[in-house]
Amino acid sequence: MGFYFVRGFDGKSAILESKEYPKGYQSTHGAFLTMEECVEKACVFPEPCSCCGELFTTNYCEPTKSELMAQKICFHCHFWKGYVREKDNPKFARIKGTHYCVEKSANVGRDVRWNGFGGTKFTVRWMDGRQESTNNLWCQGDIPDRFKNDLPDNAEFINKL
Ligand SMILES: [Zn+2]
Repeated sequence: MGFYFVRGFDGKSAILESKEYPKGYQSTHGAFLTMEECVEKACVFPEPCSCCGELFTTNYCEPTKSELMAQKICFHCHFWKGYVREKDNPKFARIKGTHYCVEKSANVGRDVRWNGFGGTKFTVRWMDGRQESTNNLWCQGDIPDRFKNDLPDNAEFINKL
């Protein structure tokens, strides 16, 4: 006899069991007395993610929720598969295993505080020879190991990091 609840961490979810009501646990769906009720009310998908093998919740807004269910993948894998589909988009740079979006520099005179990296200037050189300087670089995070073959490095910084 215990309590079942979903806890998300590092882009994954797990159903945890606790003898006591989980202290300090805050969630819109709370904790449940049975595993079945937890699975149903916390939208835990009945199969593990077909990509990473982790348990996952489909408790997201549409259309994401339907996409996760149709593809049987977790939010985290869904996020990275989107970048795999767009891997040849010329504005994406993959540098030392980290994914960046190189947006055009914001207009002169505009307040750059809300630009990527607070308006810091970077120059990126792609392996195909293109080079671009920007004050509006965005980082999507470190590419997980399971996506590194599909998302190999394609660029380098020539002035920063
Ligand atoms: Zn996954």
